[in-house]
Amino acid sequence: MSIAINQKNCIGCKKCLSVCPGSLIKLNQTGKAFIKYPKDCWGCCSCIKECQAKAIDFYLGVDIGGRGSQMQVDMKADKVTWKITETDGTAHVIEINPKASNQY
Ligand code: SF4
Ligand code: SF4
Repeated sequence: MSIAINQKNCIGCKKCLSVCPGSLIKLNQTGKAFIKYPKDCWGCCSCIKECQAKAIDFYLGVDIGGRGSQMQVDMKADKVTWKITETDGTAHVIEINPKASNQY
């Protein structure tokens, strides 16, 4: 379980570095973020939620049934959109109203 950082999108804001509870993300010499210790990532998604540049994908590995697909999140005040892209390009979109997400 880990993340993938798209360095083309990264703006070097360091928000992901500050929220990662394991200090697993670092900046490279060009000021772009990368995950230095991917095997230590436990998939808390804090960095993904914090990244305003949509530069971080969640890697859904075989071990959790994701077959290597990647998930992106787009956070807005009234809507959270999770987009899952499978390795063959098939996309799935899940939209959540964050105000209602903890109602049962
Ligand atoms: S939060 Fe996003 S844009 Fe900012 S440093 Fe991390 S990956 Fe780059
Ligand atoms: S998902 Fe959590 S543990 Fe993994 S790199 Fe991001 S903030 Fe760190």
